[in-house]
Amino acid sequence: MVDSNLQTEDRDVLQDLAERYGVEGVRSCYACGTCAAGCPARRVNPAYNPRKIIRMLVLNEAKSLLEKDTIWLCSSCYTCQERCPQGIKITDLITALRNLAVQQGRSPSGVGMQANLVRSQGRLYALDEFDDKKRKKAGLPSLSPQIEEAVRLLKEES
Ligand code: SF4
Ligand code: SF4
Repeated sequence: MVDSNLQTEDRDVLQDLAERYGVEGVRSCYACGTCAAGCPARRVNPAYNPRKIIRMLVLNEAKSLLEKDTIWLCSSCYTCQERCPQGIKITDLITALRNLAVQQGRSPSGVGMQANLVRSQGRLYALDEFDDKKRKKAGLPSLSPQIEEAVRLLKEES
């Protein structure tokens, strides 16, 4: 049950996570650090720590998590989720937090730019980053600037 005394935004975030992912499970976290120990994103950036993200959810600090870029450092590799002895859906929770951040217009600007590229070209990166000459030299065919099938599917989804 989500605490009704929380500030509205924290309560709404936790309610949303509870309905979709059973966020109550985070309260079974006993801070063993297994998630942080195997996290590749943490290896690159020691400031990132999935254990702390779960801790902030336990402490009802979901709103401040949405306001930070921290949740965007996760590579969604699922190592933490597979290893958590308490079965906490860590990666799914981080993905849900990202979705909420996007819905609330709180995602980093680069994320919006990449989403627009995928919608318009079906690619995460503009094709001009590829060197067509190098492709030809390697015997590879030229690539179309737009992946039409992907763009069509995304249009149908929206
Ligand atoms: S692995 Fe699970 S129980 Fe251990 S700190 Fe991470 S979330 Fe908590
Ligand atoms: S899913 Fe994210 S938080 Fe979990 S181990 Fe991978 S990079 Fe780290």
